[in-house]
Amino acid sequence: MSKDYYNLLGVDKNASKDEIKKAFRKLAHEHHPDKGSGNIDKFKEINEAYQVLSNEDKRHQYDQFGSSGPFGFDGARANNGQGGFGGSQGFSGGINMDDLSDMFGGGFGDIFGGSRRKSGPQRGRDIESSMNISFDDSYYGAEKTIQLRKAIVCEHCKGDGAEPGAKIDKCKTCNGSGKIRQVRNSIFGQMATVGMCSDCDGEGETPSQKCTKCNGQGLSEGIEQIKVKIPAGIGNDQSLKMSGKGEAGSKGAAAGDLYISLRVSPSNKFKREGENLFVTIPISITQATLGDKVAVQTVENEVKLKIPAGTKSGKQFIIRGKGMPKLGGRGYGNLYVEVDISIPNKLTRDQKKLLEKLQKEGL
Ligand SMILES: [Zn+2]
Ligand SMILES: [Zn+2]
Repeated sequence: MSKDYYNLLGVDKNASKDEIKKAFRKLAHEHHPDKGSGNIDKFKEINEAYQVLSNEDKRHQYDQFGSSGPFGFDGARANNGQGGFGGSQGFSGGINMDDLSDMFGGGFGDIFGGSRRKSGPQRGRDIESSMNISFDDSYYGAEKTIQLRKAIVCEHCKGDGAEPGAKIDKCKTCNGSGKIRQVRNSIFGQMATVGMCSDCDGEGETPSQKCTKCNGQGLSEGIEQIKVKIPAGIGNDQSLKMSGKGEAGSKGAAAGDLYISLRVSPSNKFKREGENLFVTIPISITQATLGDKVAVQTVENEVKLKIPAGTKSGKQFIIRGKGMPKLGGRGYGNLYVEVDISIPNKLTRDQKKLLEKLQKEGL
């Protein structure tokens, strides 16, 4: 039971190589599994068809015998890499990454479920760190210094991995091209990829001597002092991102980022909710009953609050603009003041007499 490869690609039997390639690209784009509308089975089929029709020998064989030969695409796909697979340049059943790489960029790492081989300049890793700060630091903002042990650029070779003064040779592994061809097994069968040469990181040249300090990695471990600017208004568990302050990248690649999560000690006076602060103040029975002006301590200073006559316990007042600074200098939140009427548990003789008088008055 042979599939009609021409039909699969939507080309006729006399289609030229270019027409076949064009048709394949269009269909591969359409059915690529990375796309929402993609279909991996369809994708495999058209790829299979293309592998045969794009290869003159196999196409000829297919035209004659209705299959592409002993390797058989009709379900009898060889599942090991030792069967020869049609010679040195045949990657039957595989995907020709040369054809696809420019279409899909790096997307193949995902559908093959494998991690791509790491080579070449690597962006430095991100670092997560944490820092304890006081309530006052979170209110006023602060500048702190932290020490981080991390990968830094090797000072000896300045990051290029070559021993200073070493001669630069053509890379033997890739013969100076910077690329190597690899054959791998994948869910599609064997697959040819052209990857970056890991010996020279794609540069085609290698130093005759690797840096003796970092063994050619271009990185070493070191301690960096990092100044951290803490913005006024930062909250507990919020993070600061410091771009480029993570680990150094290898061979000149960008450094990672540093994320510092802040633990803000609570205030012993104020409760904080977002940009607002909350405080409870005690007032006396007479202040509550007759009204008064009381002093309320804010973070920075003190403000007067008018307590109207007849204020009940638990009543909340708002003092605007005396809460936390809003991040980015956009003003301040509010201070919410709740009053708590204190009932004396000890009275002087005079106080007692007066209260008894009030009691007689019906209070
Ligand atoms: Zn070095
Ligand atoms: Zn190389």
